[in-house]
Amino acid sequence: MRMKILGSAAGGGFPQWNCACPNCRQLRAGTFQGKPRNQAQLAISSDGNSWFLLGASPDLRSQIEGNTELHPLEGVRQSPIAGIVLGNADVDHVLGLLLLRELQPLRVHATESVRLILMEDNSMFAMLQRVPDQVTWTTFTPGTSFPLLNASGKDSGLRCRALSLGTHYPAYVSPQRQRELNSQEASLGLIVESKTVESASGKRLAYMPAVPQIDDALLAEFDSADVLLFDGTFWSDDELIRIQGSGQTALQMGHVPVSSAEGSLHKLAGLRRPRKIYIHINNTNPMLNEAGPEYAQVRETGWEIAEDGWQFDL
Ligand SMILES: [Zn+2]
Repeated sequence: MRMKILGSAAGGGFPQWNCACPNCRQLRAGTFQGKPRNQAQLAISSDGNSWFLLGASPDLRSQIEGNTELHPLEGVRQSPIAGIVLGNADVDHVLGLLLLRELQPLRVHATESVRLILMEDNSMFAMLQRVPDQVTWTTFTPGTSFPLLNASGKDSGLRCRALSLGTHYPAYVSPQRQRELNSQEASLGLIVESKTVESASGKRLAYMPAVPQIDDALLAEFDSADVLLFDGTFWSDDELIRIQGSGQTALQMGHVPVSSAEGSLHKLAGLRRPRKIYIHINNTNPMLNEAGPEYAQVRETGWEIAEDGWQFDL
């Protein structure tokens, strides 16, 4: 399995258009020791030719253009992108679907709840279904493994299983619709496995960009992964409140912070197996500053901080 990180920032990206926090200000001024980042986006492939997107970020157009693997190869209309897996209905996770609307056959794997939100309640997404063989929706249930298929149903050899992590739907979903939906389908982490003839053992990637709490069952899942891409949204629980003067805590927003006794650095310190990488990093997070003590602390404890363009085979 080949994996590319097309974007490593949380919603808004880094810098964020309306943000003048110390990180964003210094980055724009050219005095920041660290890198700008697109909004979180992953691409995975079992053969290096056919690709699946985990999420569909608002930055998808430039993320596709910036990665030659995702460029059309033949004919007048073609794409190596075979399909998309959606873990939630957040704007920064699904807006990119609208950028893929040019009558290109695709398969979207999503829960029934996410499909209802997008296709029944948001008429703009009808652009994905102007002709019968445009976007094919395949629904899955959290906890059950399913194959990643291309638009015509060809099996990629990759298997995916979703973990139910959060129970909050995005604020744009009407209260009436929210009451009808299964809360276990609101916010998912994704486990992707490769099982090919050549590597019967299989390798496992865990993509967990929004984790509201860490329990023993989740720790066991993480320790069975070869690569863990974990929620690095906020350094501290009150990060946004301190910068903005108001707002929600990290935990209220569904993100375990990196630091503190309840944070992921401490709680995940005992993991033995996976390569541990923070992703979905908010522009306010001080660990983005490579000259700062937070960055040093993260790196010293064996964690990496994802950067756009990273690629690895597993
Ligand atoms: Zn900022």
